[in-house]
Amino acid sequence: MSRRRQIYEGKAKILYEGPEPGTLIQYFKDDATAFNAQKKGTIQGKGVINNRISEYVFTRLNHIGVPNHFIRRLNMREQLVRQVEIIPIEVVVRNVAAGSISKRLGIPEGEMLPHTLIEYYYKDDALGDPMIAEEHIRCFGWAGHDEMQDIADMAIRVNDFMCGMFAAINIRLIDFKLEFGRIWDGDFSRVILADEISPDGCRLWDMHTGEKLDKDRFRRDLGGEEEAYQEVARRLGLLQDDNGPSEVFDLSKHRKLRGK
Ligand code: C5P
Repeated sequence: MSRRRQIYEGKAKILYEGPEPGTLIQYFKDDATAFNAQKKGTIQGKGVINNRISEYVFTRLNHIGVPNHFIRRLNMREQLVRQVEIIPIEVVVRNVAAGSISKRLGIPEGEMLPHTLIEYYYKDDALGDPMIAEEHIRCFGWAGHDEMQDIADMAIRVNDFMCGMFAAINIRLIDFKLEFGRIWDGDFSRVILADEISPDGCRLWDMHTGEKLDKDRFRRDLGGEEEAYQEVARRLGLLQDDNGPSEVFDLSKHRKLRGK
C-alpha cells in the first residue's frame, strides 16, 4: 500500500509529496551508484547516516545565512524540505585536485589547487552530466546572470564554512557537489540550496592518514564504505559512541575492532 504520492525517484533518494503545499519529503536510500549508474550497489545504513549529516550541515548553513530547502528531519530516513524548481546544474567546488579534474587535466590527485575552483555540469543522465561553461548556462537559459552570481556566492560560502567544519574534526574537504533550486513568490523567484550534503557528494580525506571517508571507497572498490560514512558521522558528534574528534582514523584497525 502506498501512503503518499511519489514525485521522483533518483539514484540515492526518493521524493514524496509533503504534508503541506510547497513541501516534499526527501527519503534517503542505501542504494549507491557510480559512473552514471554503470556501477550499482548498496552501502548498509548509508541513508540513515546521510539523512543525519545533511540535516546537520543544512541546519548550520541556515544559521550562517545560506538559504536552503531543509525544514526538519522527520525520522531515521526522511526529512521535510521545501519544494523547489530544480536548476539543472551540478555545481562542483574543488580545493584539491582529485577525480575527474585529475583525469581530465593530468593534475596529480592530492595537489592543492592554486585557488578554489567552481565548475558547472549539466544535469542530464543520458548525456553523462557533461561539463559546461557559464556561457552555456546563459545561452540556454538554465539560470540567469543574477542567479549565477547568487549560486557562486553561496558555493564559496558553503566551501568556507565546510572547510572549517571538517578541519575541526581532522578531515580535509577536497571537493563537493551542490544543487540549487528556485522558490517562487508571485512573479519573483530566489535561488536556495537544495538536494543533500553528505559523503555521497563530497571528497573527505582524513587529515593525518589521508584515508578516504567518502563514496570513492565504493567507486574505487576500496571497501569499508559503511565504516567510513559512520566515521564522518561519529566525528561530527552524530553517533552515540563519540570518542571525540582528535583520534587519528585508521580504517583497518577500525574494521578489525568491528570483527570484519
Ligand atoms: O567526479 P568528480 O571529480 O567530477 O567529482 C567532484 C565532486 O563532485 C566529488 O566530490 C563527487 O562526489 C561529486 N559529484 C557528485 N555527483 C556527480 C558528480 C560529482 O556528487 N554526479
